[in-house]
Amino acid sequence: MSYDFNLKTKDNHLIIGDLDANDLAEKYQTPLYVVDEQKIRENYNKLYSAFSSKYPKLHMCYASKANTALAVMKILNTEGSYIDAVSPGEIYTALTVGFKPEEIMFTGNNVTTEELEYAHKAGVKLNIDSVSALERLSTIEGTEGREISIRVNPMVEAGHHEHCITGGPKSKFGIREDEAVEVYQRAVDLGFKPIGMHSHIGSEILESEPFMLAVESMMNIAGKVHQEVGVDFKFLDFGGGFGIPYSPDEDELDLETFTTDIINLFKSKLEEYDMGEPYFFIEPGRFLVGNAAVILTRVNTVKQSYRKFVGVDCGFGTLLRPTMYGSYHHIVTANKMDEEDVEEIDIAGNLCESGDLFARDRPMPKLEEGDLLAILNAGAYAFTMASQYNSRPRPAEILVNKDQVDIIRRREEMSDIFHGQSIPTRLLK
Ligand SMILES: *Cc1c(COP(=O)(O)O)cnc(C)c1O
Repeated sequence: MSYDFNLKTKDNHLIIGDLDANDLAEKYQTPLYVVDEQKIRENYNKLYSAFSSKYPKLHMCYASKANTALAVMKILNTEGSYIDAVSPGEIYTALTVGFKPEEIMFTGNNVTTEELEYAHKAGVKLNIDSVSALERLSTIEGTEGREISIRVNPMVEAGHHEHCITGGPKSKFGIREDEAVEVYQRAVDLGFKPIGMHSHIGSEILESEPFMLAVESMMNIAGKVHQEVGVDFKFLDFGGGFGIPYSPDEDELDLETFTTDIINLFKSKLEEYDMGEPYFFIEPGRFLVGNAAVILTRVNTVKQSYRKFVGVDCGFGTLLRPTMYGSYHHIVTANKMDEEDVEEIDIAGNLCESGDLFARDRPMPKLEEGDLLAILNAGAYAFTMASQYNSRPRPAEILVNKDQVDIIRRREEMSDIFHGQSIPTRLLK
C-alpha cells in the first residue's frame, strides 16, 4: 500500500466534513453523491500555489466536463478559477454560475459553425481545433481581428485508457505539429489575431515524464510560430490531465517535483525562443474535484451464486467509469470502517447488464444487507456521465461544508424519466 485515502472515521463510521456518512444516507437516502466543499478548495489551492510560486502569471481553467454541478463550479469561481468549456452547454453553464466571458476558454471539437458563432458572440476565448473551424469562423460576422488560440497535437500520448489519450498520431484532437506554422499564418491571413496555443495530451497523468514531453514539444512549436509567423503569445495552455490515486497501489502526483520540472522547462524555452512572459494556463478537471465526492450506496442483496455477489442500490448509470474504462474505484464500508477485510467479493450494481460491476474480487469486511458502502473518488466524470438507463431516476447530490449540508441537486422523481416526451395524439385513440 503506498496511498491511503486519509479518510476521517469515528466510532467505526466514515466522516465526511464533520458529518457521519451514515446519518447523511439516512436523511437524504441512497444512492447519494456527497461532495466535500473543503476538499475542492484544498485541491485548487494546492495546485495553484505549487505552480504560481514558481511562475506567478498563471491561470487555472477548471475543465468543467469533470463536474458541472452549479455549486461545484461556484466554489471554483469564488477561488478565482477560470473555466475550460468543451460545448456551448458548458459555456452557458459557466456564464450562469457567474464566470466572466474572458474567464472562459472554449475548446470545442468537431464544432458546427453555429456553435462557433455562439461562442464568439458570448465573447469567450476560442481554442480552434481544425483548419475547417478556422475558415468557418472567419465567415461569421464580426470575427475580423478576433483573438484566437489554436489547439496543436504535440505527438505525445498519455492516459489511463485508450479512450483518454488525446495526443499522438491516433488522436482526433488539434492540428498536426508540422502544419502549425502554416495554420497560424493562415489565421493571420484570414484576419485573426492569434494570441494562444493549446494542447491537452490525456488524462490521469501521475508522473512528470509525459507532461514534460508535451510541454517541450509544444514550446518548440510555439517558438517556431513566434519566430516564423511573428505571433506574440499572451498565453500558452498545456491542458489538464493531472491524475489522482484511485487505488492504494498508486502514488500521488509529486506536485513539488512536477511543477518545478515543468516550470523550469517552460522558462528555459521562453528564453530560448525569446517569447517574453506569456500567461501559463492549465486545465485541471479531475485533480480539482475527483477526490471531493463519494457515492453512498446501500447493500440490498448478498447472494452466493457461482461467485459471491454483494448487490447495491445503484449501477453504472450512477458511476460509469468502472464499466466504461475498467477503472478501479476504492470502496469502503461506511458503517464498518475499523473492520478487517475478510473476503474477496464482487460488488455489483442494480442494472440489467453483466458489465454492471463496481469491483471484482475486492477484499472487503464481512458485508451484510443494510451496510452502507462509499465509493471513493466519485467527484470527476461521475454525475456528468450519469444516465437514467433502465429507467432509474438519477440520485441527489449534497454538498457538505464542515458541519453544514445542502442539497445541490434534488433526487430525480419517476416523472423525470420521461421529461420532455409526448405521445402523438393520433396514438391516443
Ligand atoms: C477533459 C479535458 C481536460 C481535463 O482533463 P482532466 O484529466 O480531468 O484533468 C482539460 N482540457 C481539455 C481540453 C479536456 O478535454
